[in-house]
Amino acid sequence: MRTQIAAANWKMNLTYRQGEELLDEILDADIPLEAHQRVVFAVPFPYLIMVNSELADENNYFAAAQNCSDKRSGAYTGEVSAEMLQSINIRYAVIGHSERREYFSETNQALAQKAALCLEAGITPIFCCGEPLNIREAGTQNNYVKTQLEESLFGFSEGRISGIVIAYEPIWAIGTGKTATTEQAQEMHAFIRSVLEGKYGADVAEAIPILYGGSVKAGNAKELFRCPDVDGGLVGGASLIGADFIKIIHSLK
Ligand code: PEP
Repeated sequence: MRTQIAAANWKMNLTYRQGEELLDEILDADIPLEAHQRVVFAVPFPYLIMVNSELADENNYFAAAQNCSDKRSGAYTGEVSAEMLQSINIRYAVIGHSERREYFSETNQALAQKAALCLEAGITPIFCCGEPLNIREAGTQNNYVKTQLEESLFGFSEGRISGIVIAYEPIWAIGTGKTATTEQAQEMHAFIRSVLEGKYGADVAEAIPILYGGSVKAGNAKELFRCPDVDGGLVGGASLIGADFIKIIHSLK
């Protein structure tokens, strides 16, 4: 079975203490994960070391950065490099979240750089893609997402691309309470897999986890994750509520 992932995206929420309490609540639930299942917490940079140390004794639980720089090192005040993340043993980084694309003008080309630097540092990029509402309404979402994949990921070799996770997040569903239907999610995930297959072949495409993101909740996670090409979720709002995220973890295939 392909790797299945429940990824929490705390965004710019929670104080350090609140973060510790939320993590404790989730870990206290003692959810046994199967070998193919992972739980990932994408937390603010200052919390990464704390989260990593809390997860040290847990199997298949990981901390993730929510971003990293597209530059290797140097005079880029305020930036955090992939190498810095590697140096504190971070194994995952969310790359290209739609909020970063929109508010921080991240381009597909800059994301190609970020993904390359992560992979070089042994960090799995959770590469976010997804269309805005006007594109969905125009019915051109497949082309839109294909371009995001091509411009950011298609410079990698077969060996390198196998180290990524993709998160399909339709922007119209993020933080809006409006979830894609299971049909819409499955259709786009299968399309993304077919695009990967066209470039890298069936074996590579079959192995890459594709997460769904966009108002995943305790009540709809099971139904979404049951879709054959949906390999878990990237979860914002509901990941801030311990009981809800616990249910979402339990919903993994
Ligand atoms: C996200 O932050 O990636 C996200 C999908 O948020 P929400 O679950 O709140 O829609």
